[in-house]
Amino acid sequence: MPYLPAGFEVPPFLPHEHGFAEGCRLRELRLQRCTDCGRFRQPPAPRCAHCRSNRSDWTAVSGRGEIYTYTIVRHAANPVLREALPYNVVVVLLDGTEGVRLVSNLIDTAPEHIRIGQRVVLHWDIRDAMPLPCFRLDPDAEIIHG
Ligand code: ZN
Repeated sequence: MPYLPAGFEVPPFLPHEHGFAEGCRLRELRLQRCTDCGRFRQPPAPRCAHCRSNRSDWTAVSGRGEIYTYTIVRHAANPVLREALPYNVVVVLLDGTEGVRLVSNLIDTAPEHIRIGQRVVLHWDIRDAMPLPCFRLDPDAEIIHG
């Protein structure tokens, strides 16, 4: 069952996001990387913000990371999302990406138990037969008190 209600439609992928979408279909988290300067582009873009190159390829990453920040949504701007309230939106700082942050959702965790800095692992949320990346708490992470 998807994290957000079935009636919530995911926007279509744009042409320069095809590598991300292809990775999702294969359940592999792929990030766009500039082939000239080597920096990641997230979100994907036709041109590199650093060197203006239009050349890029797609690099698979582990999907491990930590919660950089998050919010709990308690008012649904989209009526379709009312049944999911309260739901979370997390920004995950991905390991091994030199600072790439991915906006997503954290599953299987009550809002009051989410904290900045928690370790997370990738989980594929199946929506209309399309796997989309979301996260769950890393069961192997050390428990941080305080
Ligand atoms: Zn570049």
